[in-house]
Amino acid sequence: MTTTLLPMPRVRARPIPIIASNGQPQVLADAHGRIATDLRVSVTDRCNLRCTYCMPPEGLDWLPQSALLSQEEILRLVGVGVGLLGIKTVRLTGGEPLLRRDLEGLVAGIARLSPRPTIALTTNGIGLAARASDLAAAGLDRINISLDTLDPATFKRLARRARLTEVLAGVAAAKQAGLEPVKINAVLMRGINDHEAYGLLRWAMREHVQLRFIEQMPLDAQHAWQRSEMITAEDIRRLLGEHVVLTEDPAEAATRGSAPAELFRVYLDGTDTGYSVGIIAAVTKPFCGACDRVRLTADGQLRNCLFAMSESDLRTPMRAGASDSELADIWVANVAGKWPGHGIDDPSFLQPDRPMSAIGG
Ligand code: SAM
Repeated sequence: MTTTLLPMPRVRARPIPIIASNGQPQVLADAHGRIATDLRVSVTDRCNLRCTYCMPPEGLDWLPQSALLSQEEILRLVGVGVGLLGIKTVRLTGGEPLLRRDLEGLVAGIARLSPRPTIALTTNGIGLAARASDLAAAGLDRINISLDTLDPATFKRLARRARLTEVLAGVAAAKQAGLEPVKINAVLMRGINDHEAYGLLRWAMREHVQLRFIEQMPLDAQHAWQRSEMITAEDIRRLLGEHVVLTEDPAEAATRGSAPAELFRVYLDGTDTGYSVGIIAAVTKPFCGACDRVRLTADGQLRNCLFAMSESDLRTPMRAGASDSELADIWVANVAGKWPGHGIDDPSFLQPDRPMSAIGG
């Protein structure tokens, strides 16, 4: 089975000045009082895993090379975001970003932008062992590695590839390269790896990595997600609660800001372990009100939400010679039209045509 992306309505650019009347650069504000400062850039839609919650076994119809943004084009657009629109954090993601051989060059180019943004990477860790130190040297500040299981057989079942050893080597290399604290993203699937919740926590505590469980979202290419089947944040707390006591940390809640993960302090045998585990309840406890994100796809489309039903094309005008300020205008208009929430609970909710792997998680 292959999945074809349907054409999506484009958000029309509105003539909003990029320099406010006080002479300050424009910010990416929406109509609900939020300001986007966190840019997620998908650098490729391709992936070397086939996680069941993400895509079918045969993969997808990958974007042709000509549609993908080049390193120069990504740097130009990120430069507009950072230099003109107040973007402060740039996260490189995919698809699998390590599949791009020029990732180190991209990181180095972003690190040269002014003001220099924080640079983060979300990766499945395959191939990271050989590249973590070069990425850190190029300017990478933070890393999230996706790891759903510690059992080789379950990994093969869930990701449809037997590559657990490489992922674990990647985690070790990231720590070695000083990219700490390494964050680990885990999605639990009912009947596949949900029995591993506590095993993952024990491992993360031992390895001094920050574990964050993510609720499975309706972003799979197969459109097979079912709310009744997903492991909820409440399920995760219950599964962990069979072994440890989790307490909400009021100090952390006060400083959470736009961070998607709610942190819970872990107590073992009545003792505070000093470790906090994160749970990202994107479906059952959405944090859209604090969202500060905007996304750029590998083919140069802006999305103001993972679940947006429209996109703004930056690639076509850029290739046609648009100026930085014209590109910024399109960007400002895109974020201005951001919905208040993702609406998964709304009866009229429709899953976007682009799956997670083609948006950039
Ligand atoms: N390949 C990289 C990786 O594995 O981290 C980056 C892209 S991947 C789409 C980013 C994150 O999205 C991963 O942590 C993955 O587990 C998560 N993800 C993918 N599909 C998801 C879904 N339907 N619901 C929740 N998280 C999902």
